[in-house]
Amino acid sequence: MAIHKLSSAVPFRNGQLQNETMALTQKLLDFFLPAKCLSCDSEPSVICRNCLSSLLTDPLDVTRAQPQLGLHQICGTAVVDYSPQAAKLISAFKEQQLFSLAKPMAELMVAALLKSNFVAEWQDNNSVPIVLVPIPSTSTSKLKRGFVPAQLLAQACAQLLRKHDAFKSARISVAAGLVVSDRADQAKLDRGSRFEVSRNSMKFYGSISQASLVLLIDDLITTGASIFEARRAISHTLSAELLSLVNFTFLTFAETSLKLVTRNEKKV
Ligand SMILES: [Zn+2]
Repeated sequence: MAIHKLSSAVPFRNGQLQNETMALTQKLLDFFLPAKCLSCDSEPSVICRNCLSSLLTDPLDVTRAQPQLGLHQICGTAVVDYSPQAAKLISAFKEQQLFSLAKPMAELMVAALLKSNFVAEWQDNNSVPIVLVPIPSTSTSKLKRGFVPAQLLAQACAQLLRKHDAFKSARISVAAGLVVSDRADQAKLDRGSRFEVSRNSMKFYGSISQASLVLLIDDLITTGASIFEARRAISHTLSAELLSLVNFTFLTFAETSLKLVTRNEKKV
């Protein structure tokens, strides 16, 4: 969007120069923002409305627990299973840096959240402030990609939630300050190792000073190791009294079912 605005705002005296520059701008736009739908190749959009709405089915109620590790259950919502279509979308967003996917992905995430019991849960919690906390990327991933995917999703989700009627009176913020050490890069790890490297890998430098509903945001949940670690790191900064007034839930774009994780691990 900013590139569009920039290109039309540049004053030109020479028509040919303008055309050449516009053509170059278009080439750049095509490179960064493919004109066709990522999923069906049809409409001139990064993802067309049809493909977007085909992803919008019933939200997935996702639960993770690791009682043997002392990790109490945490419940949340995902939009879709980690299908090939979802994987393609996430990969385009994260690895090809198609930032423009943050908004449609957030639209689906917020739609799933509104279909889940989140609104009721928030009202049961006396409509406390909602704090969205993006799951951080390691500094290596951040350097490689140039951005933190969950941060863009959290900001887009917060904007959409603020506009929604159900949350007119809500105080909604995106908390900065959750960081993760580089040793916690989990992408190629099996399930057991993910919990091992995740433990004590995050620190929360932000502040939660009152009763809140913390909504952890990520693009994908697999074992839940990052979600548990984020909850631990934030909880660690709260007094016992405040901790009893803060509830945690999560919202992700996709969920890799644990069955699938086990199956993949067996293959390795
Ligand atoms: Zn499409």
